[in-house]
Amino acid sequence: MKAAALLVAAGSGERLGAGGPKAFVALAGRPMLEWSLDALHGAGLDEVVVVVPPGHPGGVPGGATRSASVRAGLDALAPGFGAVVVHDAARPLVEPALFERVLDALAGADAAVAAARVSDTVKEAGEDGVVERTLDRSRLWAIQTPQAFRRDVLERAVAVSDAVLAAATDDAWLVERMGGRVVVVEAPARNFKVTTPHDLRVAESLLGGSDSMEP
Ligand code: C5P
Repeated sequence: MKAAALLVAAGSGERLGAGGPKAFVALAGRPMLEWSLDALHGAGLDEVVVVVPPGHPGGVPGGATRSASVRAGLDALAPGFGAVVVHDAARPLVEPALFERVLDALAGADAAVAAARVSDTVKEAGEDGVVERTLDRSRLWAIQTPQAFRRDVLERAVAVSDAVLAAATDDAWLVERMGGRVVVVEAPARNFKVTTPHDLRVAESLLGGSDSMEP
């Protein structure tokens, strides 16, 4: 199956507080989204639709929620690709191998998502802060991107109301809710999401900064 990519970069990035869209904030000397573009190209994914904030140059205008942005990117994708891998520009430390692994895992699934085992104990509590239950940590995964999909499945999954799209915190849930088979692919620790100024500093140090490039 030929694969294309959607790089979603249309979020406002309010929690980062950088005064502009997060994907375009400088990270180790380059706009954050360029690190993901390099990794996509490293994985041989040369057809990439970049979804940007409406009014921003350099891509397809996104929507009000992340899944609406995915739908906009999918609408703009050329025909001829049977698989689509969706990636957040906010995960700039992604490595090419992870794109390859989620695409390989599509052989037995409708969607394959990068994920990390949960190391903290997770409890569910009410509005009053009283704990109601403790979940079985051995079965829990924190879901990330990249997420690979059979294109026809993702197209059907996003053909829903804006309210349903807004309820999706990840795109794979839209496939789950229509009965699709979604599998997890364990991701390395460096595939974290840049959300806060602290995350940006950690990413900066892992990427080595703009003037400490390796020879
Ligand atoms: O807000 P959060 O960090 O969860 O966003 C995850 C990714 O989704 C980011 O790369 C962001 O740019 C993208 N996004 C988008 N359109 C939106 C909201 C988020 O493309 N409306």
